[in-house]
Amino acid sequence: MRRVRAYVGLGANLGDAATTLARALQALRALPDVHIRGVSRLYATRPVGVVDQPDFMNAVVALDVPAGPDHATGALALLVALKAIERAFGRRVRERWGPREVDLDLLVFGRARLSLERTPEGMSLDRGKADRLLVVPHPEAAERLFVVAPLRDLAPGLVPPGWRRSVETAYRERMMVEGRDAVRAIARWDGQGWVSIGAGNSDR
Ligand code: ATP
Ligand code: MG
Ligand code: MG
Repeated sequence: MRRVRAYVGLGANLGDAATTLARALQALRALPDVHIRGVSRLYATRPVGVVDQPDFMNAVVALDVPAGPDHATGALALLVALKAIERAFGRRVRERWGPREVDLDLLVFGRARLSLERTPEGMSLDRGKADRLLVVPHPEAAERLFVVAPLRDLAPGLVPPGWRRSVETAYRERMMVEGRDAVRAIARWDGQGWVSIGAGNSDR
């Protein structure tokens, strides 16, 4: 079976968000036929959109996953798994961009460009914002420093399909717009959990 490199963005801002993301990573690791190939640093980030809410923790994980019979099927299977983990962590349906227990977004699925509007028969997924079942690469990823900063830890040279610039370039653009203190790297992943990194050590 062919394999694909996928990148998933993780975010949380309720409860012990760092621990939640660690447990979400462990849940991803436990998925059948899914292998973690890299975990970004953990970032404390200022909320975007709805700004009157607690700061977020964000990270990105690189996964090695089955491509599926075709990329649409493979990417949907991964999305279903991500949504199941969100539910298992007690995520409730709330306003978009509002506070949440955990958010797992499929940022990149190999070279696939997908825009799927409806769930195929037999595939269960809560309806959510069903007008946009799955869009890959994630359409807002390049415009979010809380995504491109951790993604850059793993794949600075990557040019996701449709981006026309590398992750590194997008990161620099967003730094100019959002400012240095919009995101702060606070910990690194040691394979089991987060290990804090002291101030002054937060940029490479
Ligand atoms: P945003 O997508 O702007 O980050 P959000 O993560 O808050 O918003 P959710 O409530 O997590 O939005 O997701 C709503 C719906 O978005 C999901 O049910 C899913 O069907 C759809 N969706 C479309 N594209 C993606 C993607 N690339 N990754 C995850 N969900 C997606
Ligand atoms: Mg999201
Ligand atoms: Mg989401």
